[in-house]
Amino acid sequence: MIERTDVIVVGGGQAGLAAGYYLAQARIPFLILDADTRVGESWRRRWDSLELFTPARYSALPELAFPGDPEHYPGKDAVADYLEHYACAFELPIRHDSRVVSLERCQGGYRVATESGDQRRSRAVFLGMMNQYSRGSSLIYWVKLDAAYIVDQVRHTRAA
Ligand SMILES: Cc1cc2nc3c(=O)[nH]c(=O)nc-3n(C[C@H](O)[C@H](O)[C@H](O)COP(=O)(O)OP(=O)(O)OC[C@H]3O[C@@H](n4cnc5c(N)ncnc54)[C@H](O)[C@@H]3O)c2cc1C
Repeated sequence: MIERTDVIVVGGGQAGLAAGYYLAQARIPFLILDADTRVGESWRRRWDSLELFTPARYSALPELAFPGDPEHYPGKDAVADYLEHYACAFELPIRHDSRVVSLERCQGGYRVATESGDQRRSRAVFLGMMNQYSRGSSLIYWVKLDAAYIVDQVRHTRAA
């Protein structure tokens, strides 16, 4: 059976989690599909000495401050832990081990398939993989714009 939801968010990194926050605020049903086993894993795998080049005060996602001194430069594990805590704090629905391998338009929205063969349909799709598909220098600004666009799109298709 093909599962349905209003919005599928591909990727549960910074962009996907922030989009999830805005979608939850708008009370739009959504599901985040992430290829990895755990939130923040891509950061945990990076080299040990990695520190962000932006201080904590500019590294937070919406509505949850990065812990510690706002002027410190968080290490990669602190980033991973913060992201995991963020997903937990806002109870964001994430399906792990779900690498999206195809995305097709279909009537009323999109059909998304994962590597394991699961198929889902949604009215809209948010691609949260900006490391792969860079769109601009201000991540959260773009996420907010995209999430607002998707909220409008979903409301429009519901009304039709
Ligand atoms: C080494 C490094 C240091 C950085 N330092 C800073 C910094 O100090 N300050 C700053 O502001 N920015 C920094 N950036 C940039 C910042 O990390 C990115 O802008 C941000 O991570 C992009 O977030 P994202 O959610 O789009 O992508 P990502 O964080 O890459 O997350 C993408 C998520 O999508 C998942 N995914 C990928 N492909 C699929 C698929 N096909 N199906 C399902 N899930 C998938 C991955 O598992 C991952 O969880 C740094 C980037 C790097 C690489």
